[in-house]
Amino acid sequence: MRLLFIFLDGVGLGADNTETNPFSGLEMPILQSLLGGHRLLAASAPYIGQRATLLALDAGLGVNGLPQSATGQAILLTGINIPAEIGEHYGPKPNPAVAKYLLNGNLFNTFTKAKRKSALLNAYPPGYFQGVDSGRRLYSAIPLAVTSAGLPLFTKDDLFAGRALSADFTGAGWTGMLGFPDAPVLTPHAAGAKLAQLAGEYDFSLFEYWASDYAGHKQDMKWAVEQFKIFDGVLGGLLDTWKDEEGLILITSDHGNMEDLSTRRHTNAKVPALLIGSSTARASFSSGLKDLAGIHDKILEAALPIPSDK
Ligand SMILES: [Zn+2]
Repeated sequence: MRLLFIFLDGVGLGADNTETNPFSGLEMPILQSLLGGHRLLAASAPYIGQRATLLALDAGLGVNGLPQSATGQAILLTGINIPAEIGEHYGPKPNPAVAKYLLNGNLFNTFTKAKRKSALLNAYPPGYFQGVDSGRRLYSAIPLAVTSAGLPLFTKDDLFAGRALSADFTGAGWTGMLGFPDAPVLTPHAAGAKLAQLAGEYDFSLFEYWASDYAGHKQDMKWAVEQFKIFDGVLGGLLDTWKDEEGLILITSDHGNMEDLSTRRHTNAKVPALLIGSSTARASFSSGLKDLAGIHDKILEAALPIPSDK
């Protein structure tokens, strides 16, 4: 069964407080319909509905301090409690100690070795590659994992040809901030349908969304609300196109941040794991899942089953 992993950076399950938590006041009709009318809040988990399951996962893993992106993402990609091994949460970009774990093996590597198709669905602008090539920019954990598996990072050409998605889903950032006026711009619904279509070409695909962590650091309620209105539209297009009998969607995060705009730092909040798919696939993925370190094995169980003769 294929698995689509939508990674939302810096999204925890927070309090029902419209002053500090964008998820508290914002209407997200698609998400709320999945959650039986509930919002993406701490009080809403656990929830098991017709098409979706919401779990609250521990991101601290018994290590003091606030969880960070390099270790958090590396935990998701390797299943190893790296903060416990190196003695700290570390981020945002992997240092050599964290990179070592990713280079030793990660989800993308495992799928590649098993001759299964996997991809990171984000398209990166030319400036990103120039930064990496010149040494000015370090890979974050997810692109590091992808490239270490010998897989390509998608480019502007892939975006224009419809083989990849913009990091903001719709492509508005390419025509605006990035300065490519002829870049394709999709409605949120069309971007969600495109995401489902692209995921349909792989056994395992990942889409990385970082605007949530950014909004948290900037403590920008207005921007956070605008981004997640778009995200709800994307979910609508995704759900209209996705076939539950063919695959499972996982939406989770590395640590809290955006759900508490009273601080510009990360939080110790539990993170949501939203599963969308058949009730049997969701039950099996949820079973015994308590923290971020459990996600890796669950993804392999769902999308890369061990042959029964072994
Ligand atoms: Zn951050």
